[in-house]
Amino acid sequence: MRSWTPIVVATTLALAAGPAAMAATGDATTGTKATGTKATGTAAHATVAGSTATGAAASFAAGAKVNCAKVKCIALTFDDGPGRYTSKLLDVLRRHHTKVTFFLVGGQVVKYPSVARKMARAGHEIGDHTYDHPHLPSLPDDDIRDELTRTQDVIEKATGRSPDLMRPPYGDTDERVGGIAAELGLSQILWNGSSRDWELRDTAAITKKVLGLAKRDRVVLMHDVWPETVKAMPKILTTLEKKGYHVVPVTALLRGRSLTAGELYPMGGWK
Ligand SMILES: [Zn+2]
Repeated sequence: MRSWTPIVVATTLALAAGPAAMAATGDATTGTKATGTKATGTAAHATVAGSTATGAAASFAAGAKVNCAKVKCIALTFDDGPGRYTSKLLDVLRRHHTKVTFFLVGGQVVKYPSVARKMARAGHEIGDHTYDHPHLPSLPDDDIRDELTRTQDVIEKATGRSPDLMRPPYGDTDERVGGIAAELGLSQILWNGSSRDWELRDTAAITKKVLGLAKRDRVVLMHDVWPETVKAMPKILTTLEKKGYHVVPVTALLRGRSLTAGELYPMGGWK
């Protein structure tokens, strides 16, 4: 009989216990920069930190050039895609020179990788909306981690970048989910205005609902998987523009402040 040396598994888990530590620095790579002239000095740590914090440099928030401190902004966010109608939505957004945030489901990214790529190339912000769209608090830790990392992986494969935002399906989250999100370098983004498009399923009603929600700094929940929602978009955008709104990706509302992995946004309207 051979006796095996026990495998050390604690290393990465110790880091996982540190959402508070990550929150303190805001960016896990900061420590490396601050301590040495080169990251090679602490190669082991640098590698782990690099894989934990998906990196400000690789952020999707490329379209966030609007200064929301000076102009009236509203964030439109689209969940559950990419789907059959997403390309059409991307065309509408391009015509309006508008950038938004998409929270993608991993299983859909695998079905429509070219749409995810088109989205990223157009400068839209992309977040993780899990692989199978479960109620995360009902799952064991490993399954939560799996739902999020598999989605990060397929998004990275399709677009070349890994997201640093996530939206829990149904907005259903708790401290445990937040801890795992922090471990994976993901901020949790909720909303403070819902289009209820999945219930309405009517273009005119969705248009009316979204325009009724319009308010400075509001984060509106929509779904690009419904054709009625996509059909509503030209009128929604035209009307918002007339009213002086700048439609922006959700992180533009932060006005340059950085997100903290694991934390929930917006809290009381980004104040
Ligand atoms: Zn969803």
